[in-house]
Parts: sequence; structure tokens; C-alpha cells
Amino acid sequence: MKKKVILVDMDDTLENFTEAWVDYANRRFGTSVAPEEITDWDPSVHFEGVSHDEMYDLILEDDFYYTLKPLEDAAHYLKKIMDAGHEVLIVTSTQHQVVPIKMEQVLFRFFPFLTWDQVIVTSRKQMLRGDILIDDAPHNHIGGDYEKILITAPHNRHFDAEAHGMIRVDNWEEIYREVMRIAEEMCPL
Ligand SMILES: [Mg+2]
Repeated sequence: MKKKVILVDMDDTLENFTEAWVDYANRRFGTSVAPEEITDWDPSVHFEGVSHDEMYDLILEDDFYYTLKPLEDAAHYLKKIMDAGHEVLIVTSTQHQVVPIKMEQVLFRFFPFLTWDQVIVTSRKQMLRGDILIDDAPHNHIGGDYEKILITAPHNRHFDAEAHGMIRVDNWEEIYREVMRIAEEMCPL
């Protein structure tokens, strides 16, 4: 099997971004929105009386990044993909203000086997060259020249992944299985 380049998103792919953001906003605004209620890419529409800017200002606060947790088994299976010989690159559209805190308190804290030279910060993922993208955001897959694995998140539950040429998965065990299957199909032994 030839080594593949696997592009991996951070928010809601490696860690529980939406869940943590909703919890953080509930504490700040005294609301009680459940993460499962978030069906829109912009969560502020689910918080009555909270503006878009108030909602997005929260994720520019360093303190927010101490509340994030990795998705179940994400580290285990990401490491297995690397151990199988594939090159893993983390691709994130993180805002420039919080790159250091997010890398230290989230990426390298929960995924200590990753290094900074495996990280690409961009909101234009379609410009990247890779064999597979793992991402919860349909807009990062559409138009990209890579195999598309869409991990389920509250905001994309109603998106028709198959109709857009994407493979929907619900967890990291499924991600691992799909990456291995796609890699075999691209270059059989
Ligand atoms: Mg994401």
C-alpha cells in the first residue's frame, strides 16, 4: 500500500468544538441550549438575544480552549493511521488570534504525537493537495480534489453526504476503516 496524504480537520473532527462552544455560551449568557439543537453552521441563531458577533467573540477567548475535549478514540485511531505509514496533516481554519493557545491546549495536549510541521492553518482547504479529507464541514469538501469523509456533527445531520460524493461516518473507528479501505482501493497491493 502506497503512503497516502490524509488531511484532518480539527473542530468537531478531532475535538468537541460545537458542544464546548454551546456549553461556554450557556454559561456566559444564562441560556440552556443543547448541542443537539444546533442545526445551523452559525450557532448564534439558536441563542435568543445573542448576536452573531457576541457568539463568535467567545471563540477568540483563550479560556474557551481549556474546555475542549478530544472526540472518543480520535487519538487512538489517528495514531493508527500514522502507524500504518500514512502522512497526516492537520488542516484548520482557526482564527489567527488563538492559534498558540489552541495548538498548546488542544492539539498537542490531546494528540502529543503530532508536531507543528504537520499543521496547516487555512480556510481554503480546496487549495490543498491530499488524498483524503476528514472534515465535518460540507463546504470544505465541495470542490476539493480529495476523497471526502464527512464526520457527523449536529449542524450537518440533515446534509445529503452521498448525493455530494461524500462518505458519512459517525465516529473515529469508522474513519479508520474508511481510510484503510480507500487507501487499498487507490493502490491495491
Ligand atoms: Mg470542523
